[in-house]
Amino acid sequence: MLNSIMRILPLASAALLTASLAAQQPSPQLTVLHAARVLDVAAGKVLTPGEVLVEGARIHEVGTHVAHPAGARTIDLGDTTLMPGLIDVHTHLFLHPGNEGLQTVEESVPQRTLMAAAAAKADLLAGFTAERDMGTEGAKCADVAVRDAINHGDLPGPRLRVSCNAVDLLGGHEDAIGFNPEQRVLSNADIANNAVELVAVVREQRKGGADFIKIYETGRDRLDGDVFTTPYQYTEAQLAAAVTETRRTGSRVAVHATGEPGTGYAVAAGVASVDHGYNLSAETMKLMREKQIYAVPTFAISEYFAQHAESADRTQTINGELAYHATQFKKQMAAGVPFAVGSDVGPFPHGTQAREYELMVQYGMSPADTLRAGLINGAKLLDWADSIGQLKAGFFADVIAVPGNPLEDIKVLTKPSFVMKNGEVIRRD
Ligand SMILES: [Zn+2]
Repeated sequence: MLNSIMRILPLASAALLTASLAAQQPSPQLTVLHAARVLDVAAGKVLTPGEVLVEGARIHEVGTHVAHPAGARTIDLGDTTLMPGLIDVHTHLFLHPGNEGLQTVEESVPQRTLMAAAAAKADLLAGFTAERDMGTEGAKCADVAVRDAINHGDLPGPRLRVSCNAVDLLGGHEDAIGFNPEQRVLSNADIANNAVELVAVVREQRKGGADFIKIYETGRDRLDGDVFTTPYQYTEAQLAAAVTETRRTGSRVAVHATGEPGTGYAVAAGVASVDHGYNLSAETMKLMREKQIYAVPTFAISEYFAQHAESADRTQTINGELAYHATQFKKQMAAGVPFAVGSDVGPFPHGTQAREYELMVQYGMSPADTLRAGLINGAKLLDWADSIGQLKAGFFADVIAVPGNPLEDIKVLTKPSFVMKNGEVIRRD
């Protein structure tokens, strides 16, 4: 509409309008953040003291002492470490703890969307300034509305990459299994049974505003002793068709894939990440290293489910799977598999998912490598490598302050006292 109005305005008055709009713009606010330390994620070290000069929504300068221009406000954050806002590459804003099996059946999409808005706010206040949301689980592309409302400044929340529903087979991993079939309970995913249908779903989701495509590639899982099995859902050729169509419009595919042969099919087809990834063959790990395809372990959800299981038996089963995964994680690190940090938050409380960073350290990754996986690889996976994940001139001013030194104690990520996104102070304790 605006375009057509602009087109019928005489050129001179359009220029005047632009000029008067520009005159109303105040010059960008200058802010100096000062703290005891600042984290250099890439180098894996902290500088003392730490300062960040912010101009409007962007970082202008970072170091031990930055310029203090006239008129700049200074925010002294005391004995804290300044660092980039946290990234979670596996979230579910449209899920909440409790009513695990039925929430997506019983709760309306409007209700779920309002709860997703609350979840986005909780994540942001916890220091997560960017997230990849891995499926609304039956709310279709309602995540697009949440993303856009955040971008328009109508809602507080992280900058988001969203995927609408996940994609699944008829009778597959998330196809409302376990209900009376005569009741026709709908799947939480969009169903595609072959390459042609996959391409159609990709097009439909991209039309609906999805930034990327999420596909269920494996499930249900079984662990007998140390033998892990899970059926694959799509062949390598079918996944390749989805990847090709997704790439055609500049996007990519992420898979839920827990084990072989599905993980191998996904990697050969050229997906961007393998989420969960409990079991990866030597060949799959080699390909992931070569193609820089990220594994996203999602330990936090397993820990939460083990702690909140309905029976002692179930707790034991999940703990067994977690121990198996922890062992495999060490093998994956040794093989040079690149990682990103994703928690699968939603079924456990939003705003608590910095726990995932702690668990990756607990299971053997160094804090410096965990921070690089979370922030630098995370930014690459979200296709924002040149604008978030590090404190650098020109990057978005997504900055948090944590007590202590995260390279010595990763747990401090769970206690941010200050959150800035786009140069705007969101939280200051
Ligand atoms: Zn998930």
